[in-house]
Amino acid sequence: MTNPTTIETDGDVAIVVIDNPPINAGSLAVRRGVIEAIEEVAARPEIKAVVLIGAGKTFIAGSDLREFGAPIERPSLPEVIAAIEACDKPVVAAIHGVALGGGLELALGCDARIAARDATVGLPEVTLGIIPGAGGTQRLPRLTGIARAIDLVATGERVRSETARALGIIDAVVDGDLRTAAASYARGMNGHKRRVRDIQVAQEHAAPIESAAAAALKKGKGRPAVHAAIEAVRSATALPIDQALAAERSAFEREAFALRHQFFAERDAAKQPELSGVQPRSVKTIAVIGAGTMGSGIAIAALDADFDVLLLEADKDALARGASRIEEYYASRMKSGKLPEAKAAQRKSRLTPTVDWERLRSADLIIEAVFEDLGVKKDLFRRVDSFARPGAVLASNTSYLDLDAIAEATDRPSDVVGLHFFSPANVMRLVEVVRARSTAPDVLVTALTVAKRLGKLPVLTRNAFGFIGNRIYAAYRRQCEFMLEEGALPEQIDAALESFGFAMGPFAVADMSGLDIAWRMRKSQAASRDPNARYVDIPDRLCELGRFGRKTGSGYYTYSPDKRSPTPDPFVRQLIEQSSAEKGIARRALTSDEIQRRALLAMVNEAALLLGDGVASHPSDVDVVLVNGYGFPRWEGGPVFWATQLATRELDDALDWLGRLSGPGFVRGNVRFLTRSPESSH
Ligand code: NAD
Repeated sequence: MTNPTTIETDGDVAIVVIDNPPINAGSLAVRRGVIEAIEEVAARPEIKAVVLIGAGKTFIAGSDLREFGAPIERPSLPEVIAAIEACDKPVVAAIHGVALGGGLELALGCDARIAARDATVGLPEVTLGIIPGAGGTQRLPRLTGIARAIDLVATGERVRSETARALGIIDAVVDGDLRTAAASYARGMNGHKRRVRDIQVAQEHAAPIESAAAAALKKGKGRPAVHAAIEAVRSATALPIDQALAAERSAFEREAFALRHQFFAERDAAKQPELSGVQPRSVKTIAVIGAGTMGSGIAIAALDADFDVLLLEADKDALARGASRIEEYYASRMKSGKLPEAKAAQRKSRLTPTVDWERLRSADLIIEAVFEDLGVKKDLFRRVDSFARPGAVLASNTSYLDLDAIAEATDRPSDVVGLHFFSPANVMRLVEVVRARSTAPDVLVTALTVAKRLGKLPVLTRNAFGFIGNRIYAAYRRQCEFMLEEGALPEQIDAALESFGFAMGPFAVADMSGLDIAWRMRKSQAASRDPNARYVDIPDRLCELGRFGRKTGSGYYTYSPDKRSPTPDPFVRQLIEQSSAEKGIARRALTSDEIQRRALLAMVNEAALLLGDGVASHPSDVDVVLVNGYGFPRWEGGPVFWATQLATRELDDALDWLGRLSGPGFVRGNVRFLTRSPESSH
């Protein structure tokens, strides 16, 4: 491991330069380098003070996420800070660029902080669902007071130098050369230490503290990390600092454990021992058929990864619409300065929109994103079969349809695979790679390889209704509908799940995606549905009234004319109450805790069922899919991780309870499948 720190001098001041490109992340090597540098300068009698500064564009921008929550290799950041505090020479942090998370905590461990005018500081951990773990919650309030520290720590707000100086976080803002200014500041401290830990926390009135806490909870939707951050900051007045630091660290490690699980789950999702050694087919040109929402997103993802892209449509008008959507995307990227003009022009030059199907012959991979209708897709694959060159990979973006049936419409089912992208396809990382009955191993490997080249996170699934994600999500939504019928209202269920950490509650999501899609699907499946299974008709009733969600201005909620803000609707409440009454269900109050438990258990049960069926290869794949495609909070690790934190007995009892509440049609999963994986050894 090379040492990313060097020691230079400016007269009697040592300048410790941290150089760990691109963002000077606080990795193990950096921590080790800093601690060694501090030990070295402490022992040099000619050195009177020390400056810590970042090379390149920034101070330490944050911690190395890859190390998050892993049993952290020593020295840990708190140990580095302890060494700085123990050093009898003043240490000054010279901040330019950003000092976030661990970067700011390191600076708070110094005796003073000098910053360039354009620098930014903050403790954004709460936005990852964790709290700072290296003293941020204890040292910050010693500089800013409790109320303002709650503002910053519990919302993750970042502030510029001048504001940070006004708050007491930064001692001086510098316009000229930062390094020289910091050295002179350090020299001016005349050898005196000014440790933040020794500052008394200022006495404050309760009112501003309470209002900061209430505002942070509101902004953070009452999530656990926000509560934990507020409590940690408050404890700065209640506990001796070493005790408070230890409590902060253990809360951080507990939360970071789930993040770490997700990190390894994502890494393991790519591991398919049975495919090792199988070579992918070569892919240079990708054809996308259907230039609607998904097709244009997939085309953008392919252009951004430097593939040549053919875009095909049924007719010229639809093609023009798709092409202009792609054009608009690049125009907005250029306008916002995110993509240089030359680069955008280069990417666009690789796009060939066409209605000439002969062009398909040049494609190595063909991805279909036409209407979700088995007849349409089968016809399309037959047509593709007649144009595609031998050896081309044929992929479908279907969300629910039977991939075997689609594959068998061609004379080459072994070349057919599913590539289930998520919307917006150029943004969302998750892709389910679907293995049909006859998919050849090298076709699968090609799909996985291309997905990675597109910057995606591919998860392998077998062909089954809804694959992994939509199947689990459907079980979750069904359970939430049961709760509507039993006594809860959409806004209550959404709030409970948002406070658990979901990006959006299920009914807000349904309104956003449109209720009509699921309605059409339910109607098409009506004949094959078990007539004895519990069926909630509330969404059907809404659809019958033309309430398709946000796009029609009403669904589970009503929307303001800009279609943005949802408002609970008394009419919907009445409709739900009527539906319960017609079924003879006596409505009762459901607590937020019951709502969360049932929704999660429904996911867990479905996960056990699909793992039992062999749809997913590893239990943790379910977590990867739900976190990356469905807004499940990353810091909870995913539904399977959540479940495996419970004792088996407790989980079994909980699923039995869920079964009793769910009623007829509930199929109970076996929890054994949630842990059965050769890869789950970490
Ligand atoms: P869309 O209606 O926006 O686009 C479909 C496009 O396909 C239209 O432009 C249409 O003109 C074109 N098309 C239809 N038949 C065609 C044919 N025979 N030949 C060529 N073009 C044809 O639909 P979408 O939302 O982009 O969905 C497309 C597919 O992606 C569906 O299978 C859907 O289930 C799947 N999907 C959608 C989402 C989503 O959130 N929208 C997410 C994942 C997967």
